[in-house]
Amino acid sequence: MVLMSAAIDGELTSKEEEELFAHLEECPECRCEFQDAKKTKVIIKNRIVRVQAPQTLLESITNMTILIS
Ligand SMILES: [Zn+2]
Repeated sequence: MVLMSAAIDGELTSKEEEELFAHLEECPECRCEFQDAKKTKVIIKNRIVRVQAPQTLLESITNMTILIS
């Protein structure tokens, strides 16, 4: 559901958000889906943090920048 990932990204207007949450209150199916989407989002965020450039790469980029400037 597109609306859900938008909600997790904080991209909904407050009215849209209100409607979504009102629906989630009465629809266990969507609530489950929403929680799953949230979990997936957290997992993706953690992965992004983990694949940050290693220190050595950062250092060689810094050295290159010094040489160029
Ligand atoms: Zn529903």
